[in-house]
Amino acid sequence: MARVAFIGLGRMGHGMAGRYLDAGFTLSIWNRSKAKAEDLIARGARWSTSPEDAAIDADAVVTMVADDEASRAVWLGANGAAATMKAGTLAIECSTVSYDHALHLSRELQSRSLIYLDCPVTGLPEAAAQGKLNLLVGANAADLEMARPLLDPLATTVRHFGEVGAGTVYKLINNLMGAIQIAGLAEGLAMAERAGLDMKLVLEAVELGVTASPQVLRHARRMVAHDFAGATFTAALRHKDAAYAVALAEWLLHEAPLMGRAAVASYDRAKAVAPDDDEARMIELVSRPA
Ligand code: NAP
Repeated sequence: MARVAFIGLGRMGHGMAGRYLDAGFTLSIWNRSKAKAEDLIARGARWSTSPEDAAIDADAVVTMVADDEASRAVWLGANGAAATMKAGTLAIECSTVSYDHALHLSRELQSRSLIYLDCPVTGLPEAAAQGKLNLLVGANAADLEMARPLLDPLATTVRHFGEVGAGTVYKLINNLMGAIQIAGLAEGLAMAERAGLDMKLVLEAVELGVTASPQVLRHARRMVAHDFAGATFTAALRHKDAAYAVALAEWLLHEAPLMGRAAVASYDRAKAVAPDDDEARMIELVSRPA
């Protein structure tokens, strides 16, 4: 069975790493803070002192960290994984990063004869722990075929969008559309509250109405209840994704898209107030004075 090094054991990465243990892989792990690794170590994963240490003798290195800065650090920084990866090793970046970073990272890793796939995901932490993610892949087709046995434990769907970078392009589009929907829902529900409407009736109408996308269904009930316990996706991460997406849009469309800019501004505010809270708290932020 292949040897996997998994780096980044946050809400998503912890469950994904566990899937490799479930599937019988030999697993080495690293996270910036070790506490999140303890149960995986108890299940047989090898704790590593750095990404570089984790990558020794790995057939594939898989990363799931917050953003560009974290991704740069774990692949290319001091003690980064690239330092010890052998030529021909698979480098699978699952974090949501900017398009520019995905291209830069791929060039750096390919110049060291490593095989790079950008592989951002959709699905919540629960899906990550159950191996039910959707993978959005940008890679050479032959490289993807080589990587498939390493991707299978993580996912129910693998969508191949094109060459390296294409998975990230779609992921950023997906998350920008999601950010716009969530911010729109928060504004609509805040207006309904302020107008004194019966929120039980509003919720019923929203859930059965034409705007009830999966994203709206995911958030409407929690927003109406003002129940934000157990964040699955934080305001800071949503802001990061929207900002990366708008940068991509500026390049593709030659200007910042109106809705995208509004979403970034909304999450900028949410991030300033409660960066680590669930993104659904947006409803409380739009209804308070600026
Ligand atoms: P999270 O719980 O906040 O975990 C972030 C991870 O990144 C942690 O392992 C953290 O280490 C690490 N990290 C942050 N800064 C670092 C740095 N400078 N150097 C090294 N490691 C660093 O976030 P998450 O929800 O798992 O999200 C991880 C990625 O998946 C993000 O790119 C996110 O956009 C994407 N994503 C999330 C979801 C979701 O529903 N949550 C869904 C799809 C995609 P510590 O543990 O030490 O802080």
